[in-house]
Amino acid sequence: MSVARVKWLGEADIAVDVDATRALAARIAERNQQTAPAGFAGCDCAECRNLALSFDERFPESLKKPLTEIGIDWKQPLEAARLVCHEAERAISHACEFFFVGHAPPHLHFVSSGGDYINITGEDPRFGGLLRQLHGSDSAFGNISIDFPNVPWLLQEPFPEYD
Ligand SMILES: [Zn+2]
Repeated sequence: MSVARVKWLGEADIAVDVDATRALAARIAERNQQTAPAGFAGCDCAECRNLALSFDERFPESLKKPLTEIGIDWKQPLEAARLVCHEAERAISHACEFFFVGHAPPHLHFVSSGGDYINITGEDPRFGGLLRQLHGSDSAFGNISIDFPNVPWLLQEPFPEYD
C-alpha cells in the first residue's frame, strides 16, 4: 500500500492509495453492471436511467482527469442520489458519489475551477459497509460527491411523481 498525499484540484488535502482506488473502481463497475445492467450507478430506477442519458455530456470536463489520476472511474459512481425534484421544470438535481481508498478531512467543501460544486469528506457511514464488502478490506475511504443540478427529463417515461 502506497499512500500519496495530494493537493487535489490544488485545494483538497487528501491521502490516496491510487492502486487500491483503481482496484475498488473496477469492483464498483462490476457491481453496477451486475446490479443494474440496463441502469446506472447500480440502480434501475427511472431517475437514474434518466441521468444516464445526459451524464457523460454533463460531467464536469475539468474533473475527468483529476479523478482518473487518483484511480476513480468517473463513469461509475457508486450512487446517484436525488437531491431535489423540480416538478415545474421537469428536472431533477442529483449528487453522484465517488470513493477513493485513503483519507480526507471531514466536511471539506469547495468549488472547482470550473465552478462545479463538489463536496469531499472522510468516510460516509452510509457507504462504509458496501465499500468494505467490495474492496475486501477494512481500509478507510474518502468520498467525492459531485452535484448534477437540474438534469432535464429526457426519458420516454412519465416524470416521477412524489408525495
Ligand atoms: Zn435510482
